[in-house]
Order: sequence, then structure tokens, then C-alpha cells
Amino acid sequence: AEAELIRIQRFESLAMLAGGLSHDLRNLLQPLLLAGESLQDYQDDPRLARLGALVRDCGRRGLEMVQSMLSFARGAHRAEQVKVKALIDALSLLLQGSVPRTMTLDIEVTDPQLTFEGNHTELQQCLLNLCLNAMQAMPEGGILRVTTGRAKLDARFFLEHEEAIPGEYVRFSVADTGVGMTEEVRARIFEPFFTTKDDGTGLGLHLCRRIVYSHGGVMRMDSIVGEGSCFDMYIPLVRAVDETADDESIENDANLH
Ligand code: ADP
Repeated sequence: AEAELIRIQRFESLAMLAGGLSHDLRNLLQPLLLAGESLQDYQDDPRLARLGALVRDCGRRGLEMVQSMLSFARGAHRAEQVKVKALIDALSLLLQGSVPRTMTLDIEVTDPQLTFEGNHTELQQCLLNLCLNAMQAMPEGGILRVTTGRAKLDARFFLEHEEAIPGEYVRFSVADTGVGMTEEVRARIFEPFFTTKDDGTGLGLHLCRRIVYSHGGVMRMDSIVGEGSCFDMYIPLVRAVDETADDESIENDANLH
């Protein structure tokens, strides 16, 4: 429980830092964007106009990044009806263009018509992060397997993962046949800025778990060095934790003893 608190605290400071930084950056970028826009209309000197367009584009991109940093800081969570099929379709479209020849992409959807409450964009980001990690773990190629379907989490799962509440979930799994992770790496992968890659940010999995948590869900991971890894995201099909759900968890818990 203490480690959990430290984790939350660390995250809160990171969120505060990101919030402050985004605010300052926005104040810098907005005038830059405006300057670029007015320079771009400069008729007398085409070279200056081109530079103006460049400044405008950079300002715009910067502001977009600030925007996503801000929503991260606020933990913004816009709930909508998410369709499993829409998530998987968007993902496979993105993957098909980037999976190399040495890799087999295997996508299996058990309940395509399933819808649940959540945020499409955020979950899309999670799936993409997991898939990119999986691809990077297979430099020599292999199998990237994405599966999804309904899952019932029982009391046993509940005991292994304190955060989980027994009930109906939708499961998204991303498995690879890559390098796998050592015990030391596994223990730290969800920490912000933890990375073993030269060009990694170490934010992918942290953000991913953060998003899953904000959906009331849980993440699970299995990995064997030299064989591969599998990441599971479980998102509850009913988000609200009402009294019946509470009763059920107590009952299930008691059943185990
Ligand atoms: P990044 O990808 O920028 O390093 P992540 O938070 O996504 O940041 O991942 C953190 C670390 O977890 C990675 O550097 C890597 O060591 C490990 N990791 C994540 N996914 C996998 C995977 N599928 N196979 C092996 N290692 C992984």
C-alpha cells in the first residue's frame, strides 16, 4: 500500500510539473504561431513568407503537443460508448502499414459488437503503445498477436491484483515472441521514464496503465526471457461500482477460504 501511495505521489508531481510546463509553453507558442501566420502573408518577400509558414507549422504542432500534455495533467477522461470493432479496425489499419515482412500480424476478435464506456482515443493510444513495444521487442521478426474478447474476472484474479473488482470485463491482449523481460526490468516497466531503449521515453507503459486505471480497469503482464511477453488490459463492462458489486466481491473473497 505504501508503494502504491509513493507511486500516486510521484505521478501527481509529474502531473503538476506537466501542467505548469504546458502553461508556460503555451504562452510562448501562441505568439510564435501568430507571428508565423502574419509573416506567411508577406507578399514582398517569398522567402520570408516561406519562413513564416514554417514558424506557423511548428507553433501549431507545439500547441497540439501542449494540449495533449495538458489533458494528461488533468487526467481528462471523456467517457463515450467505445466499440471494440472500431478500436481494432483503427489499430489494424495503423499496424498494417508498419509491420515489417519478418513479422506476422495476428488479430483475433471474439466479441466485435461489444461496446463499453470509455475513451476511444486513450485506449487506442494504449493499444498502439503495446504494439509498438511488442514490435521493438522482435528485431529479428516474430508473431505479434492482438486478441480481444469478454472476460470474467473471478476472486482468484481479484486476490492477485488488489485493484481488480470481480465482474465482467473486456480484455485486450498484445503478445509478442520477442526478447522478453528480466525480473529487474519487469519490476520497473510501469515507472515513468524507465526505459531500456536508447531512444525510449519510458512513458508508454506508465501512460497506458494510467489510462487503464482511469477506466477502472487493470493491467497484467507475463514475460519469459527469450520467449516473449504478453500484456493484458482489462476494462470493466460496467464502470460504476455499485452496492451489488461490493457484495459480490466480499462473497467471492469469502468463497476462497
Ligand atoms: P519505452 O518504450 O519508451 O522504453 P515503455 O514505458 O513503453 O517506454 O516501456 C518501458 C520498458 O519496458 C522498455 O524500455 C522495455 O525495456 C520494456 N518493455 C515494454 N514492452 C516490452 C515488450 N513487449 N517486450 C520486452 N520489453 C518490453
